Amino acid sequence: MSSPRSALCRPNRIWEKRHDQHGELHRYHSASTAARPRKRSGMISMANSIDTARVELLLNELRLPGVKAIWPKLAAQSDKEGWPAARFLAALAEHEAADRTRRRIERHMAEARLPAGKTLATFDFESVPMLSKAQVMALAAGDVWLKTGANLLLFGPPGGGKTHLGAAIGLALVEDGWRVLFARTTDLVQRLQVARRELALESAIAKLDRYDLLILDDIAYVSKDQAETSVLFELIAARYERRSLLITANQPFGEWGRIFPDQAMTLAAIDRLVHHATILEMNVESYRRKIALDRRRSPGRPPVHATPKELDKVAIDAGSAV
Ligand code: ADP
Ligand code: MG
Repeated sequence: MSSPRSALCRPNRIWEKRHDQHGELHRYHSASTAARPRKRSGMISMANSIDTARVELLLNELRLPGVKAIWPKLAAQSDKEGWPAARFLAALAEHEAADRTRRRIERHMAEARLPAGKTLATFDFESVPMLSKAQVMALAAGDVWLKTGANLLLFGPPGGGKTHLGAAIGLALVEDGWRVLFARTTDLVQRLQVARRELALESAIAKLDRYDLLILDDIAYVSKDQAETSVLFELIAARYERRSLLITANQPFGEWGRIFPDQAMTLAAIDRLVHHATILEMNVESYRRKIALDRRRSPGRPPVHATPKELDKVAIDAGSAV
């Protein structure tokens, strides 16, 4: 905005011209206005279009796309309904604020890389009776645990809905204005290993600080060679008591030995993770398996079209009725 080429800093030729025209308008007022009505209205509309062009320029310069999109409509309404200037200004400001929030959330949604379609609305809480829906909803509202850098750990066998629930909580938090990153743990660890090789691990971990919540999906899938580099431990240690982690795991803590290089580091990592944590156990059978079994057990949908066999049966029945 401070660049010498800025529209705000350019010599104000548009205004000068406009002032000239105002001068002329005054002269017409003192003479007969009826004699020259067409010229006057033409000048006003020219002045208006110059104003409009200038407003658009200034709004670009000030980076106010929300105001730019809405002001002609609001200005017309304001003129028509005779709004006080403060009301017009408040309406513009409110629109810009709402537009900025919407755009920010859209950006956060794109950067969060959440799996598609995993929402709290589509999560069937009845299938996981040991889960308190009220507790999950409170976690999805964020605030306290994210502000204090506490963690959320989801345990359970494969297919029980850990990834779905973790992603759904992440989505609700993004919608609420928080910054979230969803990652398969092995992918993220791989990225951090590359950073370590390039002597940039510290800055890579620091960059993740911008996320209020990091979702590490399937922590137990970290491979042996990944465990040996200990980047995961460094990440956990760096976020401890500052930034939250949501971790999903098929394996209970007792089997986390192979995620970290040695026993001492495993214990140190678990210690930091659980110090301020909510742990949700989702010990249910696989949802996919349950749905498949339910489908097999149910009588199935009636066929949309009659099958040849059924048509034969109808014909026989009809024949016997005659
Ligand atoms: P996990 O991560 O525990 O292995 P997922 O979250 O990947 O399990 O769940 C497997 C599939 O079943 C996904 O398509 C998920 O959307 C669905 N699913 C699991 N649990 C539920 C549930 N309670 N309600 C709705 N869908 C579920
Ligand atoms: Mg999963």
